[in-house]
Amino acid sequence: MSKRKLVVIGGGAAGFFCAVNAAAFNPELEIIIIEKTTKLLSKVKVSGGGRCNVTHYCLSIAEMAKNYPRGENFVKKTFHQFFTNDTINWFGKRGVQLKTERDGRMFPVTNSSQTIIDCLMTEINKCEIKILMNREVKQLVIGNRQWCLTFADSLNILSDYVCVASGGFAKSAQFAWLKDLGHTIEEPVPSLFTFNIPEDLIKNLMGISVESALVKIMGTKRNAVWGYIHYGDKYEAENRELAARLIKAIASVTTLENRGVLLDSTTGRNDYRCKTTGKRGFYSLDENINTAPYRVLLEIGDNTVSREILLDPVSRKKMGEAIKLELAAWLSERKN
Ligand SMILES: Cc1cc2nc3c(=O)[nH]c(=O)nc-3n(C[C@H](O)[C@H](O)[C@H](O)COP(=O)(O)OP(=O)(O)OC[C@H]3O[C@@H](n4cnc5c(N)ncnc54)[C@H](O)[C@@H]3O)c2cc1C
Repeated sequence: MSKRKLVVIGGGAAGFFCAVNAAAFNPELEIIIIEKTTKLLSKVKVSGGGRCNVTHYCLSIAEMAKNYPRGENFVKKTFHQFFTNDTINWFGKRGVQLKTERDGRMFPVTNSSQTIIDCLMTEINKCEIKILMNREVKQLVIGNRQWCLTFADSLNILSDYVCVASGGFAKSAQFAWLKDLGHTIEEPVPSLFTFNIPEDLIKNLMGISVESALVKIMGTKRNAVWGYIHYGDKYEAENRELAARLIKAIASVTTLENRGVLLDSTTGRNDYRCKTTGKRGFYSLDENINTAPYRVLLEIGDNTVSREILLDPVSRKKMGEAIKLELAAWLSERKN
């Protein structure tokens, strides 16, 4: 009888891990990894600033799950299957020792993501898992007994089992081949990505993270006005628009420079964690304390000129009127 076949779509961390573990659980399976590019584990290579932050030293599922504000319950279920200790043991059994840094992040003792890549590649070879590169799966159809996978060049293969480990895509249209199977696709949002800048001024900071940091916004000593909105607010987009309009109105009647709208979670100025978003932010903008649907915080720079503007009754009146007018316009647009 011919072997049952598992096709894993994607030659990244998830695909490799799935393939290796499937082989361990069922040595009779024929396993093939299909990768659309010419590279394998390319994200693992760059992860953790080239050191690969393999896991985090936290042995409480509830505590770890809190770090995933958009998927707390979902990850809890997964963590009950495979958690931090399992990760440490999995790599330990394969000769990869992990070390814990002061903040709990765990890296291979070699401080190199290549160690993780080498470990996964060794396991793939040991389990005789085949890899097909330069092959993009374009369509996935369930037949009578097997899956039929069609590649970009129209060739296809049949498989008893399929694991989709294709990673993230920037646009929801790129998930069309999975949507065709009846899955619901959430609109993707940018999360972690490589950042290309022309100079290497900040290259030495790669992989550094700090525990309690104070982030200062350049230019807060300027003669300027700017706004803050709360990250993850139901009305985040509307608040952004409102803040932008109010700042513009204030800047138009003063000499204050318009410095734009920022998220309160990016400043590190307040240690208050919002119950809804799990993000740190300004106390005054946080929905734990401020239940207004629309909330923006406007700030004026701590600079000699701006202080004079604030102390001058004429400027204050002008600013007040500008805010009132813009707010009235914004509200009336929303009513219509
Ligand atoms: C700069 C950076 C630093 C990071 N640092 C860390 C870290 O320190 N620790 C950590 O845990 N995580 C880190 N991450 C996140 C981590 O790298 C990713 O979460 C992880 O690598 C995702 O693995 P994956 O297998 O799900 O997806 P991917 O690595 O994206 O792999 C998916 C693969 O599927 C292939 N593919 C897609 N569609 C098809 C198709 N139709 N047919 C065939 N092949 C297809 C893709 O080409 C790709 O190779 C970092 C990410 C980045 C970008």
